Order: sequence, then C-alpha cells, then structure tokens
Amino acid sequence: MPPYLLPMPMYGAAVDWSGIKMGLEEKLPSGFLLTTVEKLAGYMRKNSLWPATFGLACCAIEMMAAGAGRYDLARFGMEVFRASPRQADLMIVAGRVSNKMAPVVRQVYDQMAGPKWSIAMGACASSGGMFNNYAIVQGVDHIIPVDIYLPGCPPRPEMLMDAILKLHEQIGNEKLGANREKIIKEVEAAALAAKPTHQLKGLLA
Ligand code: SF4
Repeated sequence: MPPYLLPMPMYGAAVDWSGIKMGLEEKLPSGFLLTTVEKLAGYMRKNSLWPATFGLACCAIEMMAAGAGRYDLARFGMEVFRASPRQADLMIVAGRVSNKMAPVVRQVYDQMAGPKWSIAMGACASSGGMFNNYAIVQGVDHIIPVDIYLPGCPPRPEMLMDAILKLHEQIGNEKLGANREKIIKEVEAAALAAKPTHQLKGLLA
C-alpha cells in the first residue's frame, strides 16, 4: 500500500514518538506544564491586542509616535492598528471627544469584537481636560466603559506604553465563566455600598 494511504497514527496508539522532541519537555523535570484555562486565555488575549486605528486630537500624534520606529509598540505584539473595528479589541481614545463625535465613538466601540478594552488617553479623554464647555464630552466614560485612565496633556509615548502594559496585566488576570460572574457581583455590591460622590468631602471631611 502506498504510504499516503496508511491510516494516520492516533494519540494513545502504539506509535514510536521517541524521535519527536519539542525541547520544552526536556527542560521541565516533571514533563508537565500546569496552568489553568483562565491563565492561558489571559496570556493569549494580552499578547494579541489589536488597537483600532482611531485618533481624535493632539494626543493621537503621541499615539502614532508610540507605534513608530523610535518607541516601537511592535515589541508588545501591538503594531497592527486595525482599520476595521471588527478586527480590533482595544480602543485608545486619543484626544478630546466632541459632542458631535460622541455617537461615532460609541458606534465604533459597539462594532469592535468582544472581549474589548479601552484606554482614555490624556486629560481631555479622561475628564474633558481644559475644555470645560458645552462642545466637549467631559470624559469619554460618559459614552463607553474605560479600563485605564492615562493622565497628561499630552501623555508621552512612554506613558501610553506603560498604560498598555498595565492593561496587559489586567487582561492576563481576568476571570472567566463562574469566577467572572462572582467578581462582577462583588464589584457591583461594593459600588452599591459605597458612599455617593455628592456626600464625599475629600480634604474637607
Ligand atoms: S490632553 Fe492635551 S494633548 Fe491631549 S487632546 Fe487634550 S489638549 Fe490635546
């Protein structure tokens, strides 16, 4: 019988795999690599973040610099800024969000594939910054959920990369399934039990 007609060897069958080595099992004394599905999913997600190609104002120049040769975001597997929101899972809101732009930002966010994350880059995206007026949304968290707030006007590319690495840490430790539901319930309960902001006195208390 020609070799291409022979049945494929199955796992568990008496096949001699002794010649096939991947190197890793030689390094591990026990021959096992132990982890959880949660950790594996987190590891893969955090190392394959693709940001949406999206910039709103001056902060976007710093974001572009972070992706260019001098700072080289590619070192973290993130050089692929996707032009289609369906291929992106990170929105870097780089710059002030005008009221006119807000529905567009929300639409792009809604079209992104889940799970997805967002960074409010700079004072304007985080809080409206110096533009305390009717034209600017006073913080992009009024329209989309924000995972990391990055201060500065504008933040330097190093700061953006630091925020991204912190987000990587957060994504790597994210829970799945029943564990995730438990965490969400705990966070919601803590939020409901917290003092309302209008009762907070800060240094005046
Ligand atoms: S934070 Fe500063 S640099 Fe960034 S968009 Fe606002 S004004 Fe421009």
